[in-house]
Amino acid sequence: MIIVHGGAGEWNEEKFKIAEKILVKAVEEALEILRKDDDPITACETAIKILEDDPIFNAGTGSVLNIFGEVEMDASIMRGDNLKAGAVAGVKNIKNPISLARKIMEETEHILISNEGAQKLAKVFGFEEYNPITNESLERYKKAKEKIGETDRFKKLKEFIEKYPNYFIGTVGAVVVNSKGIIVSGSSTGGTILKLKGRIGDTPLIGAGIYANDVCGASATGIGEGIIRVNLSAFVCYLVKFGLSVENAVKSAIDYLTEKVNLPAGIIAIDKYFKG
Ligand code: ASP
Repeated sequence: MIIVHGGAGEWNEEKFKIAEKILVKAVEEALEILRKDDDPITACETAIKILEDDPIFNAGTGSVLNIFGEVEMDASIMRGDNLKAGAVAGVKNIKNPISLARKIMEETEHILISNEGAQKLAKVFGFEEYNPITNESLERYKKAKEKIGETDRFKKLKEFIEKYPNYFIGTVGAVVVNSKGIIVSGSSTGGTILKLKGRIGDTPLIGAGIYANDVCGASATGIGEGIIRVNLSAFVCYLVKFGLSVENAVKSAIDYLTEKVNLPAGIIAIDKYFKG
């Protein structure tokens, strides 16, 4: 079983159709891995890599640019059976941040490595240098910068989000359950357009952007500053662990986020009984 998402926000019809095809491809390839090897980690990583590689999503190639016109990508992966996790924040010159997050989970004793440290680890692990900036992401950056300007940034950013919600689409996420009920969650993003240099969103924060325990897995999208403040993904997974259905858990958590921080957010979640 696998579910994926391509980010909160408003997709126009044309882009939605393209994105849908790639999401389906990601699901199909991940399912193939589950059928063959029953390996939920590789299935989750593969689904997210496919989405990272398509510039229509705000992750990997095509990630949005920060205020200085640079890409700083965040990603994370977590398995619910033993609560192991790996994450990377503010990484620049690699193609697939989700694969680096997996390496951090499997080959280090740490969970989250950021910026230069992440860059250095990527080299050590043999990741090739790669420029994820596309002409389209550069164009979006220039337009956003013209519209928002650099003064009074936060007020303008909020107005901008309300006016142009489709600037914020495209973070990707996946949750996989294998035949033994092992759950793996993952996510990858370029973050929010024109973010301050060094800003880290919810995506690499275990509990906020993703979570998995022995009964439920979740992966969030939306404005990270809201998701972090309610620890959205862990919130959902523990509501399910303590008896709520996935549907009720998601609804309760999103209602709470809306009431308390009122910033846009969405989340996908499934439980190991495949009911969600
Ligand atoms: N949650 C991501 C972040 O705040 C952005 C997104 O989901 O679109 O970095």
